[in-house]
Amino acid sequence: MEIPKNLSNLKFCRIKRGTKKPFEKDWTNKHYSFDEISKFKNENYGVHCGINNLGVIDSDNEALQTAVENLLPKTYRIKTGGGGVHNYFFIKDLYQKLILETETGTHLGEVQWKGQQVVGPGSIHPNGKTYEELNQEPITEISAELIYENFKPFIKQLRETEQTVAWEKKQGSEIDDLSVANIWGTVGLVSNDKGEYYGSHPIHGSDGGTNFWINPSKNMWHCFRCQSGGGVLSAIAVKEGIIECNQARAGALRGSKAFECIELAHQKYGLLRTEPIINYEESKQEQDEIKIIWEHELPSYIEEDKEWIIDRLIPSKSIVITTGKRGTLKTFVTLLMAYSVATGEDFLGKFSTRKGGVLYLDKENGIGIMKKRTAMLRKGLEIEGKFPIGFICFSQLKLDKLGSMMLIEKAVKEHKPALLIVDTYRRSVGYDENDAGKVSELFVDTLRPLVEKYNLSIILIHHNRKGGYGESPDEMDELRGSSDLANYADIILKMERNRNSLILKQLKNRNAEESKPIKIKTDFNEEENYVKLVYDGEYMKQSQADKCVEILEIWIAENKTTQFKTKDAKEIAFKKGVKETNFKHALEIMQNAGLVKKEGFGLYSVINSQQNEN
Ligand SMILES: [Zn+2]
Repeated sequence: MEIPKNLSNLKFCRIKRGTKKPFEKDWTNKHYSFDEISKFKNENYGVHCGINNLGVIDSDNEALQTAVENLLPKTYRIKTGGGGVHNYFFIKDLYQKLILETETGTHLGEVQWKGQQVVGPGSIHPNGKTYEELNQEPITEISAELIYENFKPFIKQLRETEQTVAWEKKQGSEIDDLSVANIWGTVGLVSNDKGEYYGSHPIHGSDGGTNFWINPSKNMWHCFRCQSGGGVLSAIAVKEGIIECNQARAGALRGSKAFECIELAHQKYGLLRTEPIINYEESKQEQDEIKIIWEHELPSYIEEDKEWIIDRLIPSKSIVITTGKRGTLKTFVTLLMAYSVATGEDFLGKFSTRKGGVLYLDKENGIGIMKKRTAMLRKGLEIEGKFPIGFICFSQLKLDKLGSMMLIEKAVKEHKPALLIVDTYRRSVGYDENDAGKVSELFVDTLRPLVEKYNLSIILIHHNRKGGYGESPDEMDELRGSSDLANYADIILKMERNRNSLILKQLKNRNAEESKPIKIKTDFNEEENYVKLVYDGEYMKQSQADKCVEILEIWIAENKTTQFKTKDAKEIAFKKGVKETNFKHALEIMQNAGLVKKEGFGLYSVINSQQNEN
């Protein structure tokens, strides 16, 4: 068998006669020269691709072959034993084998490159036919770009990148307003008449030619060296070093990496934060047709019945702040709200609920603590089963970051919760809590539209200011941070401790009169691992005398006092701001209740409660 002179500068591998595959184990690294391979007279042989830039378009399809002949220059061609054609080219800057197929996935052929071989002319196919020269043309040199240009719609790897673009679009809506071409920049790239850009990869470069392509109309980029690419998200990710170029494929950008890209989209690439996260079209229409109620209509006007998620405490479409000092079981009470809504059972056994799902954005506790708390509540409620309460224990989500809000909105859209709980407000925003402008932005531009659009209520768990014992004239002032926080919330619920029970106060109700403070009986048992919270009647505000009784009781207990002088007790009470008349009244109350006994002038003894019980 004569090997054509056309192949004299190439490298070869050994193949047994009548077969197609090299038989030497290490064939990819064994490069026989023309003279060496010519010695094996009774064998087939393969031509190494990717060496000396040899690329062979292996066409299994007539239409593809016609395209190759029409679109690429004349070159050396071999008719294969199987009926296809091998088109030999020297291709500059091809980095990887290309697979060619139709849109529906029908295989058309390949551009064979490194690690591949093609069976050479003169060899015998397993079906007995010979690989034959179709012409004697020399092998022509072309650029990889010419192949990309002409066969783009059929290159499988590019179609995979298109799928990546589609996947990325699903991840982050508005970010696609940015242009891939702007992110990468087009300086140093060459554009063609279709507005596409070709050139050397901006990050890892090329070995001298084209390996990078941007299609602005598809808002897509592709790297031919790594056979990777995508849209805006991955362009930012690769440019900023969040992922390597060869990692840019569908599914690569999840979670924190996606957040990072979205944040950079704001900070460096001009994605506007003020852009509405929510489609405002519906609310705009409402604004266009303003409804006027005339004065004479008012007497007969029937107000829309406010729908409650938790009767009298939390209306639907509202923003609620729950607050309280440490030790007021704030999280437990809020979690109980979640269970009440998720099960449709009455909250505290008293307030009816509208059944619905709950999303809990936990930035404070972590899975371990939530696991323990939910177990305690379940046991206390004596419930078992599956409830639609979802926890998001992901520390990077921030309510004032567009990227985070897009993900939160996506979750809301998908799971349609009635309640979104944010634990805590403070940890969920990045701004200074005294920044009134930012507070306003969060409530007006972000939370309010979310609440309206998805018929959702949001509970923000918040802390009271530290210190400040004793009641300030306005309890709302105790909320930490900007006073606007209290202004923008629809409902403010405050938890307080009162001896063995909790008091739940509604400090503010935008739509109705505040409901009366209630007492919650707490049965908190860490050993038995349960917590029970039950309605315990309305809470009556303490009189000043009652308050003095409490002060004296604490003083007696702390000092284990058995006897005391009136003037010592008075001193304690006065220090706490109690007035003379209330002090006297308090001593009367204590005597009547059998707590103390008057022993003589200015002297009282304490009645031991244990003796009393006996
Ligand atoms: Zn690359």
